[in-house]
Amino acid sequence: MKTLKKGCKGDEVKTLQKLLNKEGYNLVVDSDFGQKTHDALVAWQKAHGLVADGIVGPKTWAALGVKENVGTKPTKDIHIIMNYGHAKSTPGKRSPLYSTLSKEDQAYFAKYPQFGTDRYYEYLSNRVIGRQITASLRERGWNVHEIEQTGPNGLTEIANATNKICKQYGKDKCVFISVHSNAAPAKDNGWANAKGWCIYTTKGQNKSDKLADYIYKYANEYFVKQDKRSIRKGLADGDPDQEANFYVIYHCNCPGVLTENFFFNDKDDLKYIVSKEGQNSIVRAHVMGVEDFIYKELLK
Ligand SMILES: [Zn+2]
Repeated sequence: MKTLKKGCKGDEVKTLQKLLNKEGYNLVVDSDFGQKTHDALVAWQKAHGLVADGIVGPKTWAALGVKENVGTKPTKDIHIIMNYGHAKSTPGKRSPLYSTLSKEDQAYFAKYPQFGTDRYYEYLSNRVIGRQITASLRERGWNVHEIEQTGPNGLTEIANATNKICKQYGKDKCVFISVHSNAAPAKDNGWANAKGWCIYTTKGQNKSDKLADYIYKYANEYFVKQDKRSIRKGLADGDPDQEANFYVIYHCNCPGVLTENFFFNDKDDLKYIVSKEGQNSIVRAHVMGVEDFIYKELLK
């Protein structure tokens, strides 16, 4: 990408304006780098610990999630399989009712009805966030297949659909990602105190571990460094349904990971999951990590 500053015009300015709008600014996407674009950029740079000079150089492009990838570009030979975990009918997988919260917290969650109006539902969240990952990958030129769980016992359904795609295109050309959020054991299905993001792979060292490493790298960048959230390492977080969750990656023939995007029965984590900031970071960590994995491991 070119270095941009006030006065520049063209498609790359358009890309910049779109990216800034995704960050919550309200720019007219006119491909013209004027004063308003400059001001938005300076504010964004400041908020992200960059030199706030209003110039989009390699560091700002990288921080905005745009990479150089000299000599490589998305190819339709690669098949990314996105799985949005759980069905509406899956038991549990929801937060306590918002009515158990303070008026202030209720007002906060009322701003995000797409995750549920009376409470948070994981099946909705996995689709809201998963579809944004899909849209972003497609926007960047990748081929994405979407697999949804339709029934409460849909784990074999997911694994079968995934392996059908692996068989058709070759398992070394496919990547599987299952998007979730976590829950911690709690008394009377109430709120819990457990925080953090984590990622799971199949047992043993294989390409899935590399995929996880790339996503982890960006997770660290966006969740920890930028948003001051936490990451959990290891598997010990006591989710009783983890065994079932693992099924989809154990039975998947291509490199695959399952991400638990923070705890939905922890009030503080939940506020982050539903926020625009949280959604953006979750989407970006997945997109950037998968893309790195494809370029550095599948297409090398
Ligand atoms: Zn889940």
